[in-house]
Amino acid sequence: PAAGAVVLDVRAIRKQFGGLLAVNDIRFQVRAGQITGLIGPNGAGKSTTFNLITGVLSLSGGEVRFRDERISGLGARAIAQRGVSRTFQHVKMVPEMTVLENVALGAHLRSRSNAAAAMLRLDRVEERTLFAEAERQLCRVGMGELLHHKAGDLAMGQQRLLEIARALCADPALLLLDEPAAGLRHKEKQELAGVLRTLRAEGMAILLVEHDMGLVMDICDHIVVMEFGTHLMEGTPAEVQRSEKVRAAYLGT
Ligand code: ADP
Ligand code: MG
Repeated sequence: PAAGAVVLDVRAIRKQFGGLLAVNDIRFQVRAGQITGLIGPNGAGKSTTFNLITGVLSLSGGEVRFRDERISGLGARAIAQRGVSRTFQHVKMVPEMTVLENVALGAHLRSRSNAAAAMLRLDRVEERTLFAEAERQLCRVGMGELLHHKAGDLAMGQQRLLEIARALCADPALLLLDEPAAGLRHKEKQELAGVLRTLRAEGMAILLVEHDMGLVMDICDHIVVMEFGTHLMEGTPAEVQRSEKVRAAYLGT
């Protein structure tokens, strides 16, 4: 998609858990070549919103459109195959395997329709393609030097980049990141920011849930603020920082 084109259109989505409206009439758009932040206090409904977009949870109302197609109602795997990819808050990898093997395995598991098929042996050509793609994505996030290191030996920041490389396999148009900077050192956060800026420059649409406000304000083009499941406001980082409503939501004043 061309830079600035709407890639994801979230239209008045709702999610009810019993008596709780965890996500209530949330609407926003994510554009190609932009980083959109999704912020809000704990319990605001950010993770639920991610799960609704990616098909992990079913909607109670509203719809989600991706590149002019309605994706709400499709299963998580069908949504992923259309080009919506995500990382999870907790890194999942096999510590004894190499960085390259971890990314190739993750990409392979994602591409299969069920776990049984994923366990089948790959032929040589499939295996070569898979490893080439994993290597390409690891280089893209600056991990080209670490392909054959044991994943268990990686620093936290490198583990997060491994996760992002895995999410990038099969060339998604939209990347959803769930707190990628949590637990990272300052220098690691800067490396992460650099990678996200590179992806943005390549035209990726990025939706970022992140608690580190310094990072969010630094790299986001647009920010959506949620509170108690509702849409509190949205705007540029400067507009969000200036907002009394946002200050009150965070500080409770
Ligand atoms: P955030 O990610 O912004 O911290 P969540 O989306 O995790 O918020 O949660 C929003 C609200 O929905 C919270 O009150 C949470 O307790 C509730 N919630 C989340 N998932 C479930 C669930 N599976 N069942 C019931 N309540 C849930
Ligand atoms: Mg959350």
